[in-house]
Amino acid sequence: METPNYFLSFLSKTEPDAVAVIKGNTMYPDINGIVKFYALPESGILIAAEISDLPDGRDEDTPTFFAFHIHEKGDCSGNFAGTGVHFNPDNVPHPEHAGDLPSLLSNDGYVWMVIYDSFLTLSMILNRSVVIHRNPDDFTTQPSGNAGEKIACGVITKSTGSLPARPYDDDNERED
Ligand SMILES: [Zn+2]
Repeated sequence: METPNYFLSFLSKTEPDAVAVIKGNTMYPDINGIVKFYALPESGILIAAEISDLPDGRDEDTPTFFAFHIHEKGDCSGNFAGTGVHFNPDNVPHPEHAGDLPSLLSNDGYVWMVIYDSFLTLSMILNRSVVIHRNPDDFTTQPSGNAGEKIACGVITKSTGSLPARPYDDDNERED
């Protein structure tokens, strides 16, 4: 980690090491996006999330946070009940789970966020799931931060090199 540009050099690679294509549940079918995972050579990963069409918060002009976790099981069928609990290999309380991540900052439904996580490795997270919840994580309540409904999910898989286009289409192009 010699300079800040060290991390940028990974993000500018054309292909991440793993991806999770995010889709909303039946209540929020418009939510879509992709989470990219870049393994760092020594330890840790970069997690880059681009998500669109998240629901409004209290006011569309205020920031809205959505809890964001890696869950134990890679099953995003139905309304994501099969994702299990937060990935927690060390059997510790929330928010010390290895799968606990910062909540997503939604800007009028759109998120672009990168997280550096030195605790996770690619082999730990492959075939698990990324889950977005309806509420922010309070980082206190057991077992999962009082984060509410699971509104979107994606299974973490090895990247095949053919990524989807940017998650928002022409009808939903941001105007600013
Ligand atoms: Zn947790």
